[in-house]
Amino acid sequence: MTGRNFDIAIAGGGLSGGLIAAALARYRPELRIVLVEAGETLGGNGCWTWFASDLSPVGADLLHPFRKTEWASGYDVRFPGFTRTLTTPCSSLSSDEFDAALRRQLPDESIRTQRTVAALDASGLTLADGERIGARAVIDCRGFTPSPHLKGGWKVSLGRHLRTKQPHGIARPIVMDATVEQHGGCRFAHVQPLGAHDLLVTDTCYGDSPELDRSALSRRIDAYCTAHGWHGEILGRQTDVTPIITGGNFTAHQSAQRIEDVAIAGVRGGFAHPLTGNSLPQAVETALLIASDADLPGSQLAALLEARARLHWGRTRFYRRLGRLLFGHTPPDQRWRVFARFYNLPQGLVERFHAARSTRMDRIRILCGKPPAQTMRAMAALTGGGGPLAERVAA
Ligand SMILES: Cc1cc2nc3c(=O)[nH]c(=O)nc-3n(C[C@H](O)[C@H](O)[C@H](O)COP(=O)(O)OP(=O)(O)OC[C@H]3O[C@@H](n4cnc5c(N)ncnc54)[C@H](O)[C@@H]3O)c2cc1C
Repeated sequence: MTGRNFDIAIAGGGLSGGLIAAALARYRPELRIVLVEAGETLGGNGCWTWFASDLSPVGADLLHPFRKTEWASGYDVRFPGFTRTLTTPCSSLSSDEFDAALRRQLPDESIRTQRTVAALDASGLTLADGERIGARAVIDCRGFTPSPHLKGGWKVSLGRHLRTKQPHGIARPIVMDATVEQHGGCRFAHVQPLGAHDLLVTDTCYGDSPELDRSALSRRIDAYCTAHGWHGEILGRQTDVTPIITGGNFTAHQSAQRIEDVAIAGVRGGFAHPLTGNSLPQAVETALLIASDADLPGSQLAALLEARARLHWGRTRFYRRLGRLLFGHTPPDQRWRVFARFYNLPQGLVERFHAARSTRMDRIRILCGKPPAQTMRAMAALTGGGGPLAERVAA
């Protein structure tokens, strides 16, 4: 197919590209859209977790057609010395279900998997095999690109889906279990009960490098499962490498990756929580924004998203400061203490933090506490920390 055949072409069928397509199919079904993904399936090989307090009612409604695992009773966190249950309901969506739901919601002509976008411009996409897809507006959702203009660290993880022989007895997710050995970074286990015998066990590390040492992480998951008496069949594995942005020159970053009149969304556009690295709430918001402004010419859509990204960058400054505290001024083996202190704070504050909507009072409470973040030290941390995020991601 050549010429201007589509209203909107989306490059990259990951979280943000898929949700934009879902929002357009739902709210603007008359528009012809195309979602081009290099991988075999949409959404890659992983899962996204979020909290009920992250989303507006309209945002939650956008995710309604996706089959999720939901935990109405909230989640636990574990640190040396304390365990806490937070009653905020949380949900998880696997990439398999993401792919299946998008295929139910979108017409066949809208999904092109195993097709690589070689070039984008204001009037369409050129695929690696030479095919040209014309569109009125083009959105680039191809994921994060390492950038010399941004600073920070990395969140690296390996997950294992395990079917246990005996019921595992875990009622709700353990979002962060930092009682594990730290191995030179801020390391924690994350556990999701997907059924009475099914668990997703993930080993995650906040570190200075994007390198993913699969065998080391796998051994740590073995040890964690053994310690909890969880034995059984391994049904699947997933890996993830996410940037944790602590600073940089966002304007220079935007200029460096700008393609004239092409809109940029997802983590590539800067739409993520700088400290958790999560981006589902922002991806939902961006998808709804695009659906409500879907008639704009491509140039105006590009300008709208660029301005939104700058606004998001400005509003999330505080989380980059916390990241500098984590990466710049806290010894790697002690980084878990920053999270331990945080998870002792009131639940409403924790909810606003996850949603990147901390109030001024929340910020003061987070920064001004007992060690390790004595106020003066915390303030000192705001001036440095993290290296350039220019390394290639080793997913
Ligand atoms: C340990 C860990 C846990 C995480 N947990 C969560 C979580 O619980 N909740 C959450 O919100 N986020 C989580 N994240 C972050 C989340 O995975 C990402 O933020 C999210 O997937 C980013 O969405 P995106 O659409 O911008 O990019 P991606 O999902 O990376 O999508 C980009 C897509 O573009 C495709 N692509 C790239 N180049 C081309 C090309 N040339 N042609 C065609 N297609 C192309 C890729 O194949 C990919 O599918 C986690 C990350 C890590 C590391």
